[in-house]
Amino acid sequence: MTDLSLPLAPAAPAAPHSASGEAVPIRDLDGVAPPARPSRRWVPKRVVATPAAYDHAHGNRIMALVEAQGIEVERLRGNRLTGLRGESERETYARAKSTLAIVVSPPSRRRLQPIAPSADWRFDLAEGCPAHCQYCYLAGSLSGPPVTRVYADLDDILAGLADYVGRGTITSRRQARRDEGTTFEASCYTDPLALEHLTGSWRRAVEHFGAWDAPVQLRWTTKFDDVGGFVGLAHHGRTRVRLSVNCHPVADRVEGGTSRLPDRIAALRRLARDGYPVGLTIAPIIAVPDWRTHYGELLDSVAEAVRDVPGLDLTAELITHRFTPGSKEVLLGWYPRTKLEMDESTRSRKHGKFGAVKYVYPPETMAELRTWFHDEIADRLPACRVLYWT
Ligand code: SF4
Repeated sequence: MTDLSLPLAPAAPAAPHSASGEAVPIRDLDGVAPPARPSRRWVPKRVVATPAAYDHAHGNRIMALVEAQGIEVERLRGNRLTGLRGESERETYARAKSTLAIVVSPPSRRRLQPIAPSADWRFDLAEGCPAHCQYCYLAGSLSGPPVTRVYADLDDILAGLADYVGRGTITSRRQARRDEGTTFEASCYTDPLALEHLTGSWRRAVEHFGAWDAPVQLRWTTKFDDVGGFVGLAHHGRTRVRLSVNCHPVADRVEGGTSRLPDRIAALRRLARDGYPVGLTIAPIIAVPDWRTHYGELLDSVAEAVRDVPGLDLTAELITHRFTPGSKEVLLGWYPRTKLEMDESTRSRKHGKFGAVKYVYPPETMAELRTWFHDEIADRLPACRVLYWT
């Protein structure tokens, strides 16, 4: 089995779900029972900062935060990241995945792009992620060694969003989602809560949207549970946090370095109780053996966790597993012994944006999954609104 361990602090205790993967009720977060367990936190082996990052207030805030955690920040001589390649693909991967770089965002990132079907616009506060999901969609989206870059020019990035209000086509123009206002997705190329303890970036973003008295919404999704710093923020309901969840066979076996599933569900409950609109990103949906049972347990665990949340605003985004020739090649380089099924002969070939080939489940499997998820969510989580299926 591929080594999926991450350097973590503090040490995370054993998972609370049973060996069979049965759903476990979430009851420990109301302040009446023991507090939530310490979150898994990434400790990068190396942190570097470009000279340009020092010219930004937020760059200096990140450096102070990193140094306060006993991690040295190395000032680079130039603004390009070099020296990340190792002797082999594996070594390059390991070196890059344990490095955090504090940089200024490239100008191309400052021109926002639509991000269907999730949101009107995407913007980035970071690129890369220290976790080790064996299907990671970043494998097909980012090039070069997978170093995690966090952006020092956060204040400028947030200030630039105002130009895009009312101009989107996903939520702004669709009757079914118009109540969300102009939506801004901030987790396309990273996992926010994997990095928040080192950056503070998403807390500032939540506060920015909280103070922005307009029909706008910040959105991000995460596979981590480190939500303590978000509880009590003045979010004013203008941030929807989605927890990226999966059934146990997927979450336990191919999502290395992320928070355990019960902890993610507990985090969802904690945010919902703090008045955040919340959501489930069920992704990637994988037709593992006995998938109905496993995904049924997932939905039941969530239903139990949110059952008594007053004023619950819960959505679901349903994304089936897919891969491209490029992402498969990168992922097999990173995780040569993965058990994740990526067999073209069992899939349908489709053309995505700009003609790129992707492999998705065949229409019969897709229809079965789709019908099952829509029916079971309506039945087991009636308060949940499904935003899209893909
Ligand atoms: Fe990729 Fe998300 Fe997993 Fe990070 S948490 S490795 S971004 S899939």
